[in-house]
Amino acid sequence: MSELEELYQEVIMEHNRRPRNFRELKDSNRSAEGFNPFCGDAITVSLKLEGERITDMGFQGSGCAISRASASLMTETVKGKSTEETQRIFDAFHAMITRDDTTELESDDEVLGDLEALAGVSEFPTRVKCATLSWHALQAALKGQEETAKTE
Ligand code: ZN
Repeated sequence: MSELEELYQEVIMEHNRRPRNFRELKDSNRSAEGFNPFCGDAITVSLKLEGERITDMGFQGSGCAISRASASLMTETVKGKSTEETQRIFDAFHAMITRDDTTELESDDEVLGDLEALAGVSEFPTRVKCATLSWHALQAALKGQEETAKTE
């Protein structure tokens, strides 16, 4: 394992142990649930949308280390961003996590930030659903959909 991979592991473990924004958001105006039947992860993402900006965010639920760490990193990254910026971050994250070994990651540090800690997940296809679950829930919440977001 390279030094960089070890560092990423540490970030994931740390976010799993002490997830950020892991709380009920009392004054949220959007929320959506995500369920990943392949792993059993169930995560609800709540946010406060003011105009085009996500001013606050929280998540709840249970899941594996990857799904929790990903949700935690997501809330940290997206909180305070506009919906447009959020979409750009999601696109970059999705590209990073679903790439195959033959494509070079066009790393955009400024967009991804700590989310790059999850880059290694792309080597484990079954784990990709865990890592993207909270993002699908976020997208559903932004669209104002009430039904449970699926990982498909
Ligand atoms: Zn999982």
